[in-house]
Amino acid sequence: MRYFDAHCHIQFDGYDEDREVLIARMKDEEVGGLVVGVDIESSKKAVALAQHHEHLFASVGLHPNSVGIERFDTQEFERLAEDGKVVAIGECGLDYFRPENPEAAKQKQREVFQAHIELAGKTKKPLMIHARPSKGSQDAYEDALAMIESARNEYPDLHGDFHFFVGDVATARRATDLDFTLSYTAVLTFTEDYDEVVRSISLTHLLSETDSPYVAPKDRRGQRNDPLASKDVVAAIARIRGENDEVVREALMANAKRVFRI
Ligand SMILES: [Zn+2]
Repeated sequence: MRYFDAHCHIQFDGYDEDREVLIARMKDEEVGGLVVGVDIESSKKAVALAQHHEHLFASVGLHPNSVGIERFDTQEFERLAEDGKVVAIGECGLDYFRPENPEAAKQKQREVFQAHIELAGKTKKPLMIHARPSKGSQDAYEDALAMIESARNEYPDLHGDFHFFVGDVATARRATDLDFTLSYTAVLTFTEDYDEVVRSISLTHLLSETDSPYVAPKDRRGQRNDPLASKDVVAAIARIRGENDEVVREALMANAKRVFRI
């Protein structure tokens, strides 16, 4: 593997027509991928894909925006997490962005995130975190980081990745000080909003991801995205930081291997 997509959803229905073709192309182009579940069904599909393809891995969890729809089945997720190709726990976390999430919904999200933290602590697998603050604030990151900091007492090795990081420089520093990585998508190809933070983070704590099928790069905006866009993400990170493409590619690949133990 030369590139790694740390967060994609190629188990979703939108790939039913050509999923195997895409997975074969990933292999040809030496792009590995972490297929991330957002509920029990998509987590099972992620595990099945990872079992069939050497260059694919799985993450299992319940997305904070699905917490009101599906109960977190601890036993079922514990069972899934035992699989050797499951290398992360999530997509889990806190989404305070949606105005339709009142305080009671946020409280429920925190309870379910805590269950993921415990699963990650027990299995020693990293968390794949979705944290989205309310507009103009860092609130979801502050709560998530506080929960992680207190869980560290019981689980000193607890680590993970903040996927599609949209926080500020100070929040990025707080996360990387806890040895968490931050991952970026091809959003970097069409906005400069994150450039300052991307430049501020140590290269040892960055990961590339695509969040496919979402956020296609600039030249394919609005279309279905795929993990091959990891290459665009690596190129964008190198450009923003003013570093050599190959140096960045190697570092991000090494980071993925370290974090996910692959
Ligand atoms: Zn996702």
